[in-house]
Amino acid sequence: MNSLPLLVTALLAAPRHLLAEEQFNFPPPEFSRPYVFPDTPTPAPRPEWLGVADVVVLAVALALAAYFGLRTRSRRHLVVLTGFSLLYFGFYKKGCVCAVGAVQNVAMALGPEQYALPLVVGLFFILPLVFALFWGRAFCSSVCPLGAVQELVLLRPLKVPVWLNSALALLPALYLGLGVLFAAAGSTFIICRYDPFVQVFRFGGGTLMVFIGIAVILLSVVVGRPYCRYACPYGFLLGLLSPFSREKVRITTGDCINCHLCADACPYGAIQPPTPAPQYLPRAAERKRLGLLIALLPVLVIVGGGLVRLASPLLARADYRVRLAAQVWQEEQGKLTDPTDETEAFAKRGVPTSDAYVAALQVHRRYATGSWFLGGWLGLVLGLRLVSGSVRRHRSIYQINQSACVVCGRCYHYCPLDRQRGLSLTDAPQEDQS
Ligand code: SF4
Ligand code: SF4
Repeated sequence: MNSLPLLVTALLAAPRHLLAEEQFNFPPPEFSRPYVFPDTPTPAPRPEWLGVADVVVLAVALALAAYFGLRTRSRRHLVVLTGFSLLYFGFYKKGCVCAVGAVQNVAMALGPEQYALPLVVGLFFILPLVFALFWGRAFCSSVCPLGAVQELVLLRPLKVPVWLNSALALLPALYLGLGVLFAAAGSTFIICRYDPFVQVFRFGGGTLMVFIGIAVILLSVVVGRPYCRYACPYGFLLGLLSPFSREKVRITTGDCINCHLCADACPYGAIQPPTPAPQYLPRAAERKRLGLLIALLPVLVIVGGGLVRLASPLLARADYRVRLAAQVWQEEQGKLTDPTDETEAFAKRGVPTSDAYVAALQVHRRYATGSWFLGGWLGLVLGLRLVSGSVRRHRSIYQINQSACVVCGRCYHYCPLDRQRGLSLTDAPQEDQS
């Protein structure tokens, strides 16, 4: 959240750079031995007006998702919109630009790389977040192409045990932290590189990722949106905002009779059952436990930061400049007799080897700082999870966990009371079920 004002400032401060659509390419070096430049399935840059059209389509799709998901509550219309989003943002646009990957562009723009954030990418990042503040995860509902693939192949959802679901739900925070660190350091975009669906959208790519993509799609047939729930870093951000949304998703418009039908219908474990009648533990004991956990928060942040800092040299190896410097050093020491493609390309630039070492040192420094933030972030997420788990909340009826709900609309028509009454759900009173 704190980065949003910075992002908006960045968007407004450098208008000439915001429209930068192209990457700066260096002429490829000539290698002394046969070298085949790999084909890349990455889509070519699009004309500016098409980028603007994409943003308009995104905004309209988000508005429709919010309307179908929260007003008309029509699962049928959401499915049609999901199909459109899959075709447009997935197959037509080949999965790029997408809000999920845009997290890294934003991180890089805020980092030391002096990267100019293209306006279209910035808007793809920010629009779904703004919508989440008003209508929850409308983007996940039926606009995100990654969510769309998983949504449409889900045929026989199995229930993931609550403890396992809670544990795995921490992974997106880790992935987000790593993605931001690697991007801000200017090393790599891991979220795009390991996007399991992009190969499907582009009908090609590396064998390993094609294999992983097929495996995730097969898993999605029986486990509701595994990538969304246990990996997606952008979904994690949307999940943080959606509990504060102005309009909340509702299971039913009537009075819940605790029949459990809606919870059975939700494949994402987003409906929480009523809790047993509260047992009145001594308040002093409860307060003490909560106070201890809150006091533990800064400790977890510092310990987390310190631990990840220890792993910083290892993390820095994700950067090509660090790997190159290591290879150059090995060559200089005579430990590497045959030059690699990278060292040969470096030698052709005709710059002193000290340049490689200086660049690598700079990257190491970035990781030394960034790893403190990453570890602190992980400690904070874990600490807050412990605190929130220790707060007893009483629920007398089934309620939606707004953070986990992807507004798929499956549960809407399972409430027997609504069916019996034939209520117009749109006209019904708005209850806060957060
Ligand atoms: S959780 Fe991530 S992948 Fe899933 S629909 Fe939302 S943004 Fe897309
Ligand atoms: S709308 Fe939300 S609560 Fe209802 S089934 Fe879909 S994810 Fe679950």
